[in-house]
Amino acid sequence: MDEFRTVTCTVCPMGCSIRVRLEDGLPVAFEGHQCKRGPVYARDEVLDPRRMLTTTVRVCGSATRLVPARTSAVVPRDRLMDVMALVRGLCAVAPVEAGQVLCADLLGTGVDLVATGSVPASPPATPVSAPDRKEDSR
Ligand code: SF4
Repeated sequence: MDEFRTVTCTVCPMGCSIRVRLEDGLPVAFEGHQCKRGPVYARDEVLDPRRMLTTTVRVCGSATRLVPARTSAVVPRDRLMDVMALVRGLCAVAPVEAGQVLCADLLGTGVDLVATGSVPASPPATPVSAPDRKEDSR
């Protein structure tokens, strides 16, 4: 018996809803796409779904605590939680430049985590000294 899945194509803003017919779990026919990129996307989405990851990474050595980052390519969807656990443990040392690789080959995926913003190094804030206390003259 044929099985069907519906996939929303995210390749362009049209967002076509593509109906995929599966035989033995394999995509064999597509309906609803408006260009030839749709079936390619839908096939990948059924067989090997992947996502771009956009996140932030902690920064050490700067008053700015976080730097925005994203993966250099799509990551297998079933690895995203593991990748996020790794990213949560990272701390980039300031200064950080946009385009800098913050972590290469995330968990052996072949995909890097890249900074999308810059963070300058800055000295730690100096503690504010307490005002001199007047001696109690009583
Ligand atoms: S099928 Fe083509 S037109 Fe439709 S969303 Fe995908 S890329 Fe865009």
